[in-house]
Amino acid sequence: MTDPHELRVLNPATEEVVATVPAASEEDVAAAVVRAVRAQRTWAAVAPADRARLLRRFADAVDAHTEELAQLEVREAGHTVGNARWEAGNARDLLLYAAGGAERLLGSQIPAPGGWNVTFQEPLGVIGVIAPWNFPMPIAAWGSFPALAAGNAVVLKPAETTPLTALRLAELALDAGLPEHLFQVLPGYGATAGRALVDHPDVAKIVFTGSTRTGREVMERCARLVKPVTLELGGKSPNIVFADADLEAALDPFSFLDNSGQDCCARTRILVQEPVFEQARDFLADALAAVVVGDPADEKTRMGPLISRQQLDRVRSYVPEDAPALRGTAPDGPGFWFPPTVLTGERPDGPAATEEIFGPVAVLLPFTDEQDAVRLADDTPYGLSGSIWTRDVGRALRVSQAVRAGNLSVNSHSSVRYWTPFGGYKQSGLGRELGPDALTAFTQTKNVFISTEGPAQ
Ligand code: NDP
Repeated sequence: MTDPHELRVLNPATEEVVATVPAASEEDVAAAVVRAVRAQRTWAAVAPADRARLLRRFADAVDAHTEELAQLEVREAGHTVGNARWEAGNARDLLLYAAGGAERLLGSQIPAPGGWNVTFQEPLGVIGVIAPWNFPMPIAAWGSFPALAAGNAVVLKPAETTPLTALRLAELALDAGLPEHLFQVLPGYGATAGRALVDHPDVAKIVFTGSTRTGREVMERCARLVKPVTLELGGKSPNIVFADADLEAALDPFSFLDNSGQDCCARTRILVQEPVFEQARDFLADALAAVVVGDPADEKTRMGPLISRQQLDRVRSYVPEDAPALRGTAPDGPGFWFPPTVLTGERPDGPAATEEIFGPVAVLLPFTDEQDAVRLADDTPYGLSGSIWTRDVGRALRVSQAVRAGNLSVNSHSSVRYWTPFGGYKQSGLGRELGPDALTAFTQTKNVFISTEGPAQ
């Protein structure tokens, strides 16, 4: 039974309770927003260079606590320790990038007959960030740090399963000298704390990452208050492998197994050109068998557990035991384990090939030519990410222009860099995070016309 007043954080590798944390009520959210409104007024008046200096001190604090944050992420989310260290580093690097942005957030001056227009990029106020459990630390950082740098306050609701790293980040922010209540983390349930944040009239914008279903509800509720929203809603990304590709690099199983496949950019539709299809299948069979799945705290482990029993059940529902598939191995319980799997008998328009499974499961499908590849790649409601593998530069350019997705990579599986824009086409979301415009997304533009005509004589 779920206790509405408390969150029990489980280690997904062992099912042991790691911590219990009070769950925020609607009243707690309202009180946090009142505090945030006050803190934001103080913060917006701080000179940009001083804001940047404090954010750099916050980055130093994150850096000094990398190992502690990484170990927390291992325990609450089951991430492999190597990945978890990268995630703490990503939060630190984004803070440094955002601090630089704070110093360069400029308005403009537009000449006009009889005067000047001066535009200002003003902070929005209080930003509500609703984060998921798959990358608790980076996604909390992406929504919050550019917002802080632009002069806003943040109230962050982490996922109910993974509140611990976000809570620790908020403590480090305070230690670094950020004003009290500027960056508040309120663990709680989506249906109470999440909704209260979305519905609060003094929350100026919502940044939501999670499922399309919940994202749709968040957007509808924001519409009632004409509240802007950024949505990052996952994907079903293609990995398009032409016959001339470097097959070993193209078929790296961690393109869909990283974070046990709980990755919105996971390349879960492996599309392989017919002449090398059999070769690809053999390669993947060997690659899956070699994946070390187990204790995420062990440095040698490459893949950990899924986040929860609920997620395990969801993944199982897409993979019947008798489904034709290539399979690796995984430990038995306790813990929420599922083996690396590539389904080989799926229809391109079936559920496993078009819906986000969010587990270590991909589908393998053949294609004939460029047109067929693009058609298959786009044949889902999503459009977040994808890879194109070929040695033909012209083809790489044509296909990357044709595929409808926000983040593509050619001869690479890289998706997310804090200095480039990130977000989806179609039902993968709305708006962009990260990149050079990350701070501007947390501002609104004010234009002031200044007459040079002087008072009438
Ligand atoms: P949700 O979209 O329900 O949860 C994401 C966040 O939203 C959590 O913090 C959640 O809180 C909160 N939330 C839930 N309901 C509401 C609401 N009505 N109003 C405001 N906030 C709310 O995702 P799930 O955890 O249920 O995961 C289901 C599926 O979603 C996954 O299998 C995956 O396919 C997809 N997903 C995609 C992600 C991505 O990166 N784009 C990330 C996570 C999931 P609480 O934790 O209490 O539920």
